[in-house]
Amino acid sequence: MAVDERELILELFPGTDPDLLPPGEVLYYREGAQVVIEEPPFRVVLDPLPRPPLPRPAICEACGRPLGGAFARFFRIRVGGDGPEVYRYVVLCENTEACRERARPEVLRRILRKGILR
Ligand SMILES: [Zn+2]
Repeated sequence: MAVDERELILELFPGTDPDLLPPGEVLYYREGAQVVIEEPPFRVVLDPLPRPPLPRPAICEACGRPLGGAFARFFRIRVGGDGPEVYRYVVLCENTEACRERARPEVLRRILRKGILR
């Protein structure tokens, strides 16, 4: 079995800052109503919020596209770890597949970090 270099480093040096790891493959996909961003072994699940009335166009955090209300969606990330509940909020395209085509891995990585770091 091939050992992933990222997992090996984390096994040897738990708590290594994700920025110091060699880049992995960033995955960004829908899972039912939720959106998942993953760069193994890190994974965040974003829960959609009820569609809010957006007073003005929003910018998708993943792909940078300005979005009208019908195409934007607020998502919430429960930040990992114990202690008080902390949520971070992200505006993303409603259409995850199209967004993924435009989103750069380093931007997705930044959103992923929001969910794993306090
Ligand atoms: Zn987008």
